[in-house]
Amino acid sequence: MEILTAQRLHKKFINKELSSFEITKFLLERIKKLDSKIKAFISVVEKEALDAAQRADQKISQGEINPLLGMPILIKDNISTKGILTTCASLILQNFIPPYDAEVISRIKNRGMVILGKSNLDEFAMGSSTENSAFGPTHNPWDLTRVPGGSSGGSAAGVAALETILALGSDTGGSIRQPAAFCGVTGLKPTYGLVSRYGLIAFASSLDQIGPIARDAFDCALLLEAIAGWDSKDSTSCNLKIPNYSKIIQEPLEKFKIGIAENLFLEKLDKNIKLAIEDSLSTFKKLGGEIISINLPHIDYALASYYIIAPSEASSNLARYDGARYGYRNKEALEINTMFSKTRSGGFGKEVKRIIMIGTYALRAGYYEAYYLKAQKVRTLIKKDFEDAFRECDLILTPATPTLPFKIKENITDIWAMYLSDIYTVSINLAGLPAIAIPCGFKDNLPIGAQLIGKPFCEDFLLKAAHHFQKNTDFHQKTPEIALG
Ligand code: GLN
Repeated sequence: MEILTAQRLHKKFINKELSSFEITKFLLERIKKLDSKIKAFISVVEKEALDAAQRADQKISQGEINPLLGMPILIKDNISTKGILTTCASLILQNFIPPYDAEVISRIKNRGMVILGKSNLDEFAMGSSTENSAFGPTHNPWDLTRVPGGSSGGSAAGVAALETILALGSDTGGSIRQPAAFCGVTGLKPTYGLVSRYGLIAFASSLDQIGPIARDAFDCALLLEAIAGWDSKDSTSCNLKIPNYSKIIQEPLEKFKIGIAENLFLEKLDKNIKLAIEDSLSTFKKLGGEIISINLPHIDYALASYYIIAPSEASSNLARYDGARYGYRNKEALEINTMFSKTRSGGFGKEVKRIIMIGTYALRAGYYEAYYLKAQKVRTLIKKDFEDAFRECDLILTPATPTLPFKIKENITDIWAMYLSDIYTVSINLAGLPAIAIPCGFKDNLPIGAQLIGKPFCEDFLLKAAHHFQKNTDFHQKTPEIALG
């Protein structure tokens, strides 16, 4: 079966083989049928979706040609959508309806895309399995007893199960790439500053980026074109000309150098993943890649540095949820400080509380220098490691995850095992670089992902390498059994 990508669907729209309304209706039915098992969605906006599809069909019939017009998309539930519930998978925001759209939402609406609903995530994007959702876990479409990864687990599972064509996720330490790898789909974390964060509910502001999740690199390129670019409402947004990614990636791949850091092939790395990465290297060689050895000497400290910086920023960002203006409020308290503490202790889940406490601890007077400042210095060293490496090569290849998708509940009480699943991804956020996860193998019907890392703002080359890899492999074409019926 030919997989349904945005690229193919657009052709069908133009040739009048299928309308946006028909595919939207089809997907809404699939969601009804499948999502009680997968739980990729927190909310489905059926009426809005059908209305948007009808508007898109009208434009298509009037001859408007834009590759995303009428294209169905699923949005991670930490991205604000005007008039649509945006919960962050938290009890504290369970009734929150934003009065405005995030910048990325305004942009996809301008393109005439069709929002199907909001996807499940780890509460406030804190986690690697989507088990930390206040609304229950998402299940991996390849094996329902396993996690889809996280925190954008709903978005990745939704794409894998063909409940949507495209999805948006957010990535603070791996939350697009790790679930993409676990679900056998393609996910891109853009360079920090390429995509506006306005309206993304903040976890760690110096690390957060919104990015596309899709079946392949071509579709990621299409969606990135729509959401990337300067926004005056985000002070960290970069004012650069956005390339025509989907056009550039189709050009032939010139000779390039691909870096491998030996110290990333840890003892703990699953041997099947190691083999799949070695096979990927052979594919890249055939595509004109020269493999060189690089050194990333400070990478071993990335996880420790990340788990000080991200919680510190989170403890500050999440201070706003106190029940005073919006969100859940504990009504029993008779006095304001008790109201704050009861609201926060009742509204936040266990992992969010842990992250807030770690961050508050690290920022305490007298501890700031020992933890936060030191972690920032390590961050600078990691950034420099990548700058040095990228003087020698054009891309870096690593596994996306050290293990195959684990079982639901397997790591929930072992936070070290859980945090270790981000070992290959967090350093990229610390350095602000772009990276893409692409399917590169299977073991026992479970997907394996490779991570390609690029130079800052070189998403065009990153996507091009991923696209050519996918033209020569078929891992991204595989569909889980549950989605075939
Ligand atoms: N798993 C990581 C964390 O919990 C990354 C999450 C993310 O990228 N949002 O911090």
